[in-house]
Order: sequence, then C-alpha cells, then structure tokens
Amino acid sequence: MSKAYTGGCACGAIRYEISAEPLEMNDCQCRDCQHMSGTGHGSYLTFAGRSRVKLEGKANHWDIVADNGNVKTRAFCPNCGSPVYMTFAAAPDFFTVHAGSLDDPGRYDPKKVIYTVRALAWDNVDPALQKFDRMPPR
Ligand SMILES: [Zn+2]
Ligand SMILES: [Zn+2]
Repeated sequence: MSKAYTGGCACGAIRYEISAEPLEMNDCQCRDCQHMSGTGHGSYLTFAGRSRVKLEGKANHWDIVADNGNVKTRAFCPNCGSPVYMTFAAAPDFFTVHAGSLDDPGRYDPKKVIYTVRALAWDNVDPALQKFDRMPPR
C-alpha cells in the first residue's frame, strides 16, 4: 500500500487519515453534488474499511435520501463549512471523502463519472472517463 490518505476541512478542525487504497474514484454530476460542491459536480474517493479510518474533530451531519432510496450522510465542518466526508446507512463499511479535502488533491485519479443525466453544458469532465447516466451497478 502507498502512504495513507490524509486530509480535512479548510480550517483544520476536522482531520482524517485513511490507511487503505480507494475502492473507487469518481466524479458525480447529480443535482445534490452540484449543490454540495457549489459547481457542476462532486469528486470523491471511496474507501472500504471504516476501521482503517482515523477521524479527529467533530463534523456536523446532514442526511439526504438518494435517488435509489438509500440514506447518505454528508459531514461538513461546523466552523468553516467545508464538505469533508460521506457515509452511507446501507453500506456502513464505506467511507467517502471529497477529493478537494485531501492534503494532496493530486492523488485523485477519477475513473468514471456518474449521473451524467444531470450534466451541465458548462461542466466539462475528462471525455476519456467511463460514463454512467445514473448510478452504476456495484
Ligand atoms: Zn473547518
Ligand atoms: Zn452526486
């Protein structure tokens, strides 16, 4: 394994360290991610293995029901407002972080883009990425 993935919010109140390789790295162009990111899509690294995630600081949480009916919990810093991570009621072992929250965001290497059905004309993503109009099958 390469070195741990570390990161946190903009003000430093929330920090994480993940000693695992991401299971998935993807952009998502759904409406929810547009609201959350403030632009055309969100960029995410998803890890399996909550036991390998060290978290410091206390995030505020907000639950949202996804299109598929699953509840996802968005965690953001109560101080600076940065979105930091997401967890999923139906997949409690998964831990997803926002690419921009990494100490080294250059480690993000997206493989696919999902929810292209909601893509905005001005939001150009890498045309070489595998595309799914909605949620890909897992
Ligand atoms: Zn913060
Ligand atoms: Zn999304």
